[in-house]
Amino acid sequence: YRSWEIKKVRTTCPHCATGCQYDLIVKDGRIVDTEAADGPTNHGLLCVKGRSASFDFVQSDRRLKTPLIRSSVTGELEPASWDEALDLVARKFTELRDKFGGESLAAFACARSANEDIYMLQKMARTVFKTNNVDNCARVCHGPSVAGLQRTLGSGAMTNPISDICENAEVVVLVGSNPEEAHPVIGMQLRAAIRRGLKLIVVDPRDIGLAQSAQIHLKLRPGTNVAFANGIVRQLIHDGLIDQEFIRTRTEGFEDLKAMVEAYTPERVAEICRIDSRDLIAAARMYGEAKRAAIVYCLGVTEHSSGTEGVMALSNMAMVTGKYGRPGCGINPLRGQNNVQGACDMGASPGDMTGYQKIAQPGIVEKFEKAWGTELPRFKGLYATDCFPKMIEGAVKGLFIFGEDPVRTDPDTHHVIKALKNLDFLVVDDLFLTETAKYADVVLPGRSYAEKEGTFSNTERRVQRIRRAVTIEGTRADTDIFIDIMNRMGYPQPRLTPAEIMDEIASVTPSFAGISHARLDSPEVKGEGLQWPCTGKDHPGTPILHVGKFTRGLGRYSTAAYRESSELPDADYPLMLTTGRVLYHYNACAMTDKTEGINEISGHSFIEINTKDAANLGIENGDRVVVSSRRGRIESVAHVSGKTNAGETWMPFHFQDGNCNWLTKAALDNICSTPEYKVCAVKVEKA
Ligand code: SF4
Repeated sequence: YRSWEIKKVRTTCPHCATGCQYDLIVKDGRIVDTEAADGPTNHGLLCVKGRSASFDFVQSDRRLKTPLIRSSVTGELEPASWDEALDLVARKFTELRDKFGGESLAAFACARSANEDIYMLQKMARTVFKTNNVDNCARVCHGPSVAGLQRTLGSGAMTNPISDICENAEVVVLVGSNPEEAHPVIGMQLRAAIRRGLKLIVVDPRDIGLAQSAQIHLKLRPGTNVAFANGIVRQLIHDGLIDQEFIRTRTEGFEDLKAMVEAYTPERVAEICRIDSRDLIAAARMYGEAKRAAIVYCLGVTEHSSGTEGVMALSNMAMVTGKYGRPGCGINPLRGQNNVQGACDMGASPGDMTGYQKIAQPGIVEKFEKAWGTELPRFKGLYATDCFPKMIEGAVKGLFIFGEDPVRTDPDTHHVIKALKNLDFLVVDDLFLTETAKYADVVLPGRSYAEKEGTFSNTERRVQRIRRAVTIEGTRADTDIFIDIMNRMGYPQPRLTPAEIMDEIASVTPSFAGISHARLDSPEVKGEGLQWPCTGKDHPGTPILHVGKFTRGLGRYSTAAYRESSELPDADYPLMLTTGRVLYHYNACAMTDKTEGINEISGHSFIEINTKDAANLGIENGDRVVVSSRRGRIESVAHVSGKTNAGETWMPFHFQDGNCNWLTKAALDNICSTPEYKVCAVKVEKA
C-alpha cells in the first residue's frame, strides 16, 4: 500500500490471550490487512488467526446492524429502534427485579470484549439489576486457576511473563496445554527456546506437536493430573530435590502434604495415569534438578470436576522446590480468550469486585457503594454454570448475555437450551445472530475490538490498548448500551469515554491504580503495556509475582487426593471423549468462520480415534461416524491415528456441524463450578 493511502491503527489481537500487537491497515474506511508489530509478547510474530482472521468478521455482511425484538404476534425477532429495544430491556428487568428481587436476574460478561465494557456490564448488574449473579466465561475454562491459585498463593494469575519463561527457564513442564494451536505465538517461542536448549516435559493425553520435541512425554489418561502431580512431589521429597529453606520460611502445612503424597508411589501413579513409572521419576528429577523451571498449563488441567485441586497440586510442585518469585519459574496458566484475564480482573464474578476485592470481605461493598453512590446487593451470587439449573427451576428469570454463546460453548447443549427457554426475559448483546441469540427476546448489536477504544489484559496480566479503526453503522458502543440501561433503570450515569471508565476503574481498584489510557499511550510505557499489580502512577507494573513473599503471606499446600472423573467409560459408552482447540479457529468460530480461506483448511467437525479402536469398530480414516453419549448424539468424521491412546477420543469444540457439546457433561468442579469438558463417556459407530 502507498503510505499516504492508508492509516495504521496499533491494536491487540482479539483471538487469544497471548496479546500480540499489530497494526490494522485501513484504506478508504475499511480494514484491508494486518501488519505484525514488535509487541512485548509477539516480537514481530503473528499466527494465522492474527494475520488472516482479524478483520473479515468485523466487516462481515452477517453483522447485526439493528436491534431486534421478538414479536408477540409472529414470535420472530424483528428489527426495532434503539429506543424501543433499550426501553423494553429496562422495563422488563425493572419489573422482574421489583417483583422477584435481584436474585432473579443474572448477567454474563464477554471475555472477548474490553476491560472498560466488562467493568460497565458488572456495574450495571450490581447497581440496577441489584444482583451479584454476574460471571464470565472463565467459569467454563480457567475458573479453577483463579480459585486454586488464590487459595495457594493469594493471586489467581500467571506468575511469570511469557518472554521470561522462554528466555530464562531451563525446563518447562507443559501440562494439558497445546500452545502451538491454542496460543500459537507462545508455541513458536517455546520451539525457538527448545532450539536454544530448553528441556521440555509434556504432560498430555494426546500427541501434541511439541511432544515430538520433548525430552519426556507423559501421555497420561485424561483426568489424572492430581495423581501425576502428587507422584512428582513424592519423588522430589524422596530424591531430596526440595528446597527446605523455602518450605520453612515461605510456606505452611508441608508435613501434611508430605504425609498425603506418600501413598503416590511411582508404581501406583503409573497405574492410575497409565504411564511408565520410570518416566514419572525422570520427569521429577528433570524438574527438581533445574535451577529455573516453569510450569505452564491450560484447560487440560482446569476443565475437570477436580480442576481446582489439579491447579493446586501443580502449585505444590513449584512450592516444594522453591520455584516461585524468580525468573524462569512459577506456575503459569495460559488463559484462553483474549480478555478472560480482564473479565476476571474487572469484577465480572459473583464473589469479587474489581481486582479480586472480595464481597465477603468487610468494607468492600461499602467502599463501592460510596464510590458508585447507590446501595449494592450483598447476597452470594451464582456462578454462570449454576445459573442454568436455577433457570430450569424458575429461580433465575431474566438474563443479559454480553458476547457469549452458551448454546454452542457450554456442556450438555440440551440442558442449556432447556434453561434459556424457561427464562422470562433474555437479552443478547453480540456481533452476530448467534445460536444463543436465536432464543433471545431482545438482541442488541454491539461492537467489536476494531470499533472501540479500550484495553485487554493478556494472559500474563499485561494491560494493553485496543484502538478504533472503523465504525460499523447501526451498532452501538457496548459501554453506551450499559450506560443507557442504567439511566433508564433510574441510576443516572454520564456518558463516559473508555479512558474515563479506566480512570474510574483505577480509582476503585488498588492493583490498577497506576493504569490509565494516557499512561499506556505515553512514551514512558513504550507500547509494552503495564502488568498489574500497578499500584500508583509511578509504579512500573509487576512482571513476576510473589517475589520474596506470596500475595497471601505464606504459600499454602493442597492435600487433595486424586479422585476419578465423574463419568468413565463403561459397557454402553466404552470410549473416553476429551475436547480441545485447533490452530485455525477461536471458540465457537464467530470471529474466525467469516474468513473463507480458514474454513477451506478447517471448517468441519471431526473426531480423533485410536487406530486399534477404529479397527475394532470397523471404522476407517475419513468415515462418517455417529458419536453418542448419555446426553446427545452427533455426526462427525473419523480421523484415525495414534494421536490418542486406545480407549480415548478427542474432538475440537469449534464446529456447529457435529458440536461435541451435545455430548459433554455438566459435571462441575466442586470448588468453582467449572464443567468437566475433558472427560465423558461416548460410543462411536459407523454412520
Ligand atoms: Fe492472535 Fe493469539 Fe495468534 Fe497472537 S497467538 S496472533 S494473540 S491468535
